[in-house]
Amino acid sequence: MELDKMDENDWKYHGEGNKSLVVSHVQLSRVLRLLKYPAEDSENPPQTVEQAFRQIQNIVDFSSNVMSCLLGEKFIHSGEVVKLPLEFVRQLSIKVQHQRPAWRCDKVMDIYSGCALCLPNLTSPVLHLSTHTAPLCIEIKPKCGFLPSSKHVSKDIKTKVCRFCMHQHYKVANGKWKRPSLYCPLDLFSGNRQRMDFAIRHLIEEPQNNFKIFKGGQCIYSSKEVSDDSMDLNAVLQHLRPYFMHGNNRFNSHMTSKAVLNDLIQVLANALLSGGGDREVVTDTRGGGRSFCEASLLNKERIRHGSEGLPSDSVLFRILQTQMLDTLDIEGLFPLYRRVEQHLQDFPKERGTVWSPASLPVCVRTRLQVEGPYNEAFLEKLQKCPTEDDGSVEYAVAKVHQYRVAMTAKDCSIMVALVPRSEEEEDEGPPSLSTQRRLRDFHSPRPPALSYSVSILDLDPKSFDSIPSQLRLDQKIVSCYLRTGGALP
Ligand code: ATP
Ligand code: ZN
Ligand code: MG
Ligand code: MG
Repeated sequence: MELDKMDENDWKYHGEGNKSLVVSHVQLSRVLRLLKYPAEDSENPPQTVEQAFRQIQNIVDFSSNVMSCLLGEKFIHSGEVVKLPLEFVRQLSIKVQHQRPAWRCDKVMDIYSGCALCLPNLTSPVLHLSTHTAPLCIEIKPKCGFLPSSKHVSKDIKTKVCRFCMHQHYKVANGKWKRPSLYCPLDLFSGNRQRMDFAIRHLIEEPQNNFKIFKGGQCIYSSKEVSDDSMDLNAVLQHLRPYFMHGNNRFNSHMTSKAVLNDLIQVLANALLSGGGDREVVTDTRGGGRSFCEASLLNKERIRHGSEGLPSDSVLFRILQTQMLDTLDIEGLFPLYRRVEQHLQDFPKERGTVWSPASLPVCVRTRLQVEGPYNEAFLEKLQKCPTEDDGSVEYAVAKVHQYRVAMTAKDCSIMVALVPRSEEEEDEGPPSLSTQRRLRDFHSPRPPALSYSVSILDLDPKSFDSIPSQLRLDQKIVSCYLRTGGALP
């Protein structure tokens, strides 16, 4: 990929979130992730080229220096900042515009800075070259997997019904989604197979923003409301059938859609639990956290389905552990945010935005780094946080850093790439790539036919300044839930 010879015809629309738009290369396994900003600002870019560059460099640093230590390097691809020719970016923005879902068009792609994040395309990994079948990739945005047990929580309901389930309620009440999803993150993170199967089944049935299927790098299944050309579930299951025609199924050409769905769920649960290690229950340091959400349909059967804990090397364990760095809940965190904010008003230089290499040695120690740089010192600040509040700004800033890291882990996505193994591989030695794990290692009674690799994406730092709006959103969601008694309209 030569940056000075970029051609928009080599790239196509791939997807987008709230903050960025992603295009993929038609041949290479690469994506470009470009920033977006509110359409009102389309004539006046909200930041300079230098600021855009710094913002993307911050994303790379946060991912590689902070999140990868917490989540495990093997899952993370941080990518690199690239400077693209402006003419290429303009043409690209025109080319992709008609493919963007209407509800995302309140934001426009940044065409002024030419800065982008270049990443490996996790939906078309190179490992499929040994076989001729297109790789299958499943993206799951699991959201927060625990109930807060902080003493600062003012509403009891928050310790009984999880944030996702309350937020679902809020979104349906406000017309964001037509139907509620029955997915509950506490079931997914429980480590209990029945609960996980139930959670994955409901992610598939009502994908919303939390579940996507890609085949050969193309999104073939997501929420109808998210993408116009995504198929319905039955059509997708037809597409997936060849991937599961192995083992006993090999002799059964009439594999039903239901059987395909069951196999898909099993494979996903295996991948999410893989990584070996002893099973551990991730608990709060103070313990006593509940692992059931009263809004989950499985709640009433909780005696049968417990929380078995997660293997300590699994992607779910690492994500949950990082999410749990939010020990105080937004309600307990907010006063500490105010303490930092007050300190920054008194000593604005300590904010950490000034980027002057000459003064670096002195500043790195004193600065609070609320806006980076995201380096080892930042990680150290949050890892060496004192357990008790000594009233200091250092304590407050460490808790704020922890909270922000937890927010990123509550918002990330997991990408599971499933690759059919060639016949030879199936019969003998291990697959060539070290990231591949064989399903034979797991409880599956059938011979393996799919290798998988697991990655985590979307690891942007959440802004310090967004904390007050987090508190307001929390209050709105909780009061909406209480007002309607948890009953959906
Ligand atoms: P959010 O609103 O969830 O915060 P975002 O704006 O931060 O999203 P991403 O989640 O990073 O953006 O990217 C949007 C989508 O693009 C992802 O959900 C995923 O489907 C796709 N995507 C992002 N990065 C990659 C990648 N490296 N390989 C393949 N697909 C990717
Ligand atoms: Zn729940
Ligand atoms: Mg995302
Ligand atoms: Mg994001």
